[in-house]
Amino acid sequence: MSDYSIWVLEYSFVPNYHISALIYGAHNQGYRKLPYCYVLIKGKGHIAMVDVGYNATEYGDVLAGRFGVTNWHSPEHVLQKCDVKPEDVDSIFVTHGHFDHFGNVDAFPNAKVYIQEREISKWVWAMSLPERMQWMMGAVDPGDILRGVKLAQEGRLVCVDGDLQDVLPGIDLHLAYDTHTAGSMYVTVRNDGEKVSQDAWVLAGDLIYVYENLGQNSNPNDNINTYCPIGFAQGSQTNLVLTTEEIMKSVNYEWRRVIPVHEERIKDEFPSIIGDDGLRVSEICIGKDQVSRVG
Ligand SMILES: [Zn+2]
Repeated sequence: MSDYSIWVLEYSFVPNYHISALIYGAHNQGYRKLPYCYVLIKGKGHIAMVDVGYNATEYGDVLAGRFGVTNWHSPEHVLQKCDVKPEDVDSIFVTHGHFDHFGNVDAFPNAKVYIQEREISKWVWAMSLPERMQWMMGAVDPGDILRGVKLAQEGRLVCVDGDLQDVLPGIDLHLAYDTHTAGSMYVTVRNDGEKVSQDAWVLAGDLIYVYENLGQNSNPNDNINTYCPIGFAQGSQTNLVLTTEEIMKSVNYEWRRVIPVHEERIKDEFPSIIGDDGLRVSEICIGKDQVSRVG
């Protein structure tokens, strides 16, 4: 039996998003739905999240409008589907600083927030650049970075420098520098608690957007499942391919164990329900003594 339950919780979505941003070189392939989600991890006396979504006020809302995001619902509303309140969350692992992942830390008053030191410091650097270079600030709300600094002042921010094993028992953080962003990270849940786990899940942040990035469904004639990196890299696609290999190796090349939160087809791979609010809950796995939320 697994140590942790893992759910992917949709909190809003973009009805039509450019596929070229999701898959490198996929020009002229049109648009697809892009769900916006965070991950809830529950077990071993902890309630943790991977990313927190954005706050639909001020500049977060401006950015959401720019990306065409719709149907935003609050963490109170979304987490209640798993019988969790935002104040119950004790640990948050922020994969990167983009507004739809890092923009709502204020909603979680009791959580310790983990982010790569390089991610925070490079956003401060990018903010300091002249306006003509502000492409680098795409998808970032400077207010979120300031909120990160405030968390540090309150003693609730942990700046991680590289990889960190057992941040919670069986949960590891991994730096993927200069990939999607300067200090992106992914989260591994070793759900049997073993060092070399046969039951590992990778919460991939935006290092993987969709299954094509893992070499799945990309080309019917492609027998070797060639990785195709995401289109939107502030670092390099080379580093993304190297990170994809590292991720896939860590799950014995079982691509289904890599969870891309912007992938709509998660609902076809895992038990899922869509509520009256039009938002999906996908159940990746259930920990011991815990109940299904999609039954
Ligand atoms: Zn991102």
